[in-house]
Formats: sequence, structure tokens, C-alpha cells
Amino acid sequence: MTTTDTIDIAGLDGGPVSLATKQLDELGSGLQGRLLRPGDQGWDEAVAIWNGMAARLPALVLQPTSAHEVAAAVSFAREHGLLLSVKGGGHNIAGTSIAEDGLVLDMSGMRQVDVDPGAKLAHIGPGCLLGEVDQATQAHGLATVLGFVSETGVAGLTLGGGFGYLARRFGWTVDNLAEVEIVCADGQLRTANRDQHPELFWALRGGGGNFGVVTRFSFRLHQVGPMITGGLIIWSAERVDEVLAAYRDLTESAPRELTAAAIVRLAPPAPFLPQAWHGKPIAGIQVCHSGPDADADLAPVRALGNPIVDLVGPKPYVAMQSMLNAMEPKWLHRYWKAEFLSGLSSEFLDAFRSSALRVTSPLSQSVIFHLAGALNDHKDDDGAVGNRDAHYIGGFNATWPPGAPADPHVAWARDGWERIRPYSTGGNYVNFQLAEDDTGRTADAYGTNYQRLQQVKADYDPGNLFRVNRNIAPA
Ligand SMILES: Cc1cc2nc3c(=O)[nH]c(=O)nc-3n(C[C@H](O)[C@H](O)[C@H](O)COP(=O)(O)OP(=O)(O)OC[C@H]3O[C@@H](n4cnc5c(N)ncnc54)[C@H](O)[C@@H]3O)c2cc1C
Repeated sequence: MTTTDTIDIAGLDGGPVSLATKQLDELGSGLQGRLLRPGDQGWDEAVAIWNGMAARLPALVLQPTSAHEVAAAVSFAREHGLLLSVKGGGHNIAGTSIAEDGLVLDMSGMRQVDVDPGAKLAHIGPGCLLGEVDQATQAHGLATVLGFVSETGVAGLTLGGGFGYLARRFGWTVDNLAEVEIVCADGQLRTANRDQHPELFWALRGGGGNFGVVTRFSFRLHQVGPMITGGLIIWSAERVDEVLAAYRDLTESAPRELTAAAIVRLAPPAPFLPQAWHGKPIAGIQVCHSGPDADADLAPVRALGNPIVDLVGPKPYVAMQSMLNAMEPKWLHRYWKAEFLSGLSSEFLDAFRSSALRVTSPLSQSVIFHLAGALNDHKDDDGAVGNRDAHYIGGFNATWPPGAPADPHVAWARDGWERIRPYSTGGNYVNFQLAEDDTGRTADAYGTNYQRLQQVKADYDPGNLFRVNRNIAPA
């Protein structure tokens, strides 16, 4: 029970922990950042997450402004046994940034981006969204590997592995991570890289938020753009078999500079589509080509002819990175199911196509992303992300408005997923998991790396303080 003198916060052992408001005031008074309670100004934004289906509320939010404040908050949470979560961009599909009735560290006050063009490095605060980093690095004609929607958080995307339009050239996002600064469960601030805490650094490259609170990411940068060739070509879904076959041919011979995704859905009421098509089934190919010869490489796809629209052309890389933002607003309800794939067999494409065409919501989509290229390159020190055998990731993204029944949309995504599962590599992407996914599925996401991750967890977080995530139990 919460009184004016005490506040109840969910504890690590399941029961509530009663804290005197005086204790919280002491924590808050030592900080420049804000300590928010329900109803405070800024509360709604601090607890908002992308997936409305996973929404829950904490008891308290702390918004640190420095690594020192993060360390104080982590020590406070550990000493009082509080259920703790860490929020980057709030885009996790399972909604893991919010500890229900617990304490949230909202990192949105730490979003500095320092680009060192000479060293080709970017030092990034953990509250940054992808777009902020792309804008800053592209000012120097540089970029690192980040995802397809620029409102996603850098922190969660990176810690789970990360891929996007540049991944086929430069590998997983974590392959481009040079160093992190992190506060671990003991409240100590550490620098982790290939020389300092190398095992921790290995685990952080894919193992998610299990090992502490990252207070700085340092990424290697590459020369990219600022202009690329990219966009979407859309055909009637009556031609879906042709489009998917052309997509397979394109991706099987694509240079690393070309990344393509296949999309099947009902046409959104977007201004770039003729009104007569709104709500009708469509099949599209989204491309980003960051090298020379884009037109020649894309010719086989354009040879299909008669698209509804062809929006592919030269554009700034930062525009490409935010092209899909309007399709992904916060608070809609979502249920995603996807698998890593080693190829696009005819049997897989049949299963994918037949499920995609049975879609139950005009907001849902069925998607295949091409990976391969540098994502498959084995390095001396691969990081925990694993899945170097994945050539594609494919699945079903169900989306519907709040208040509408979930069942038909969840059933559609699950049914499609069951049909494509036989073609999985056996791996899945930890950053696409749902709250319902169990530890077995998280273990599958890491394959043979899982036991090593459990050992690192035991070394750096033996009490499992960082458990509101896709959790790796300490060995
Ligand atoms: C619309 C959309 C598009 C996406 N596109 C891509 C894509 O192109 N490529 C891709 O790889 N993934 C993509 N994803 C998946 C995305 O990587 C994950 O949802 C990721 O968790 C989002 O990160 P976030 O910081 O926004 O998440 P949050 O929900 O804020 O955080 C997720 C988890 O990350 C951990 N975390 C966050 N900050 C820290 C920190 N500072 N220190 C330690 N742990 C921390 C915590 O465990 C937290 O629970 C997409 C997701 C969405 C919703």
C-alpha cells in the first residue's frame, strides 16, 4: 500500500518494497535528472512505448543525465531490491523497457552525439534515436549500421545485434561497435572493448540489456552517401509470385551495396499510391543501393514492368532511413513472428505468400529482409549475436488499433509463422521477440553462444538485477 510517507515499488523477489518518500527525495536531490511519479509533467511521454499491446506502467521513472547518476540509481535499486528496467527508444516489441510497478531508468536525457570524422568514430549517448545519429554522421558523409525506422532507439537495437540497409556491407550493428561504457550491477562504471573486459564486450554484442546500463556507445563509421538510390516499387498482389521470384533472383546475386526487402500487404491510404488501390492487396520491393551501378543492379526487377508505382531514385541516405517512420506510429497493438532463413525455397515462398494474402488487418504486413553479405562473415571475435548462417529474416507483423479484438490478427501471424517455421535456420532475432516468448526461444536466438552468455551474466550480474529484458539466467 502506498501512503503519503511511503511508496510501494515492485521488488526483485516478486513482492512490493515500501520505500519512505524521504529515501526517494534523498536519491532525487543528488541528481540533475528528474525523478517522476504518476501524474508528474513528462510522465506520459516517459512511460510511452511503441507496442500498445505490451503497455504496462511503472511506479517511478528516473531520468539520469550522466553515467554518475546511472551508477547511483543502479546502486539504489540493488540495495533496495527494486525491479528495474532501462528505456532507450521504447521500441522493444516485448515492451521490456517498462518494469511493471517498478523503477524505469529512462535514458532520454542522455542523447549527445559526438562525431570524430578523422578517427571515423561516433560516441553516442544511450537515449539517442537512430535518426539523430544518422543526421550527425551524415553531416560528414559517414554512417554506421542502424535499422530501417529512424525513431527506434540505438541502445536496444545495438545490444540485440542490429541490422539495416548497410548491414550487408558492414555487418551487424555490433560488428561496428568499438567500445562501450557501462554501469554493471555492482554500480561500477566500466569501459568494455576488445582489451578491457573482453568477455563482457563479447556478451554486449548481441546479449541485450542483461549486463548493465550502457552509458556510451562508440561506433566505427564508414563513408556512405550522402546520396543513395532507394525507395519502393509496388505491384498488384495478383503478381505476387512473379514479384517474390524476382526478389529471390535479385537478392541471390545482389552486391553488398544493395539491400532489398519484400513486402506483401493491403495498400495503405498513402499519398504516393493512387486512391483506387487503397486497401487492395499489393506486393512490393523496398531497396537501398549505396554503391555505384544501382540502375544496372535493379534492372531485373524493373523488367517485371507495369508497377503501380516506382518510387526508387536518388535520395539522401537520411531520407531513406526515415521513409518507413509514418507506417510505425507508437501505441498501435502489434504481434510480430519471424524466423531467420538460410534461403528462399519455392516451398518457403508458397507458405509465405499464401499466409500473407490471408491478412486480417489493413495495418499488418508480411516481410522478408535480405541479410547475408557481411552479416555472414565470421570474424576472429564474432560477438554473442551469432546467426552468421542467416541469409534472410522473414515473418508476419500483425498490427491493429487499440480496442479492436486481438485474436484474429494474432491467429493470422501465428498461423503464418507455423507455416514458415520448417524453413528456419533454427535461430530467431532476439530483438523481434514478444513478451510471450519463453527462455527456450531466447536460448534459440543465441544457439551455441547461450551458455557462454550465462557465464558472463554470472560474472557481472549474479543476482540478475537486470532481468526486465529477454533474460539470460546467470549460470
Ligand atoms: C518499428 C520498428 C522497426 C525496427 N527495425 C529494426 C531494424 O531495422 N533492425 C533491427 O535490428 N531491429 C529493428 N527493430 C527491433 C529493435 O531493434 C528492438 O525493438 C529494440 O529493442 C529497440 O530498441 P529501443 O532502445 O528502442 O528499445 P527499448 O524498448 O527502449 O529497450 C529495449 C531493451 O534494451 C535494453 N536497453 C535499452 N537501453 C539500454 C541501455 N542504455 N543499457 C542497457 N540496456 C538497454 C533493455 O533491456 C530494454 O528492455 C525494430 C523495431 C521496431 C518497433
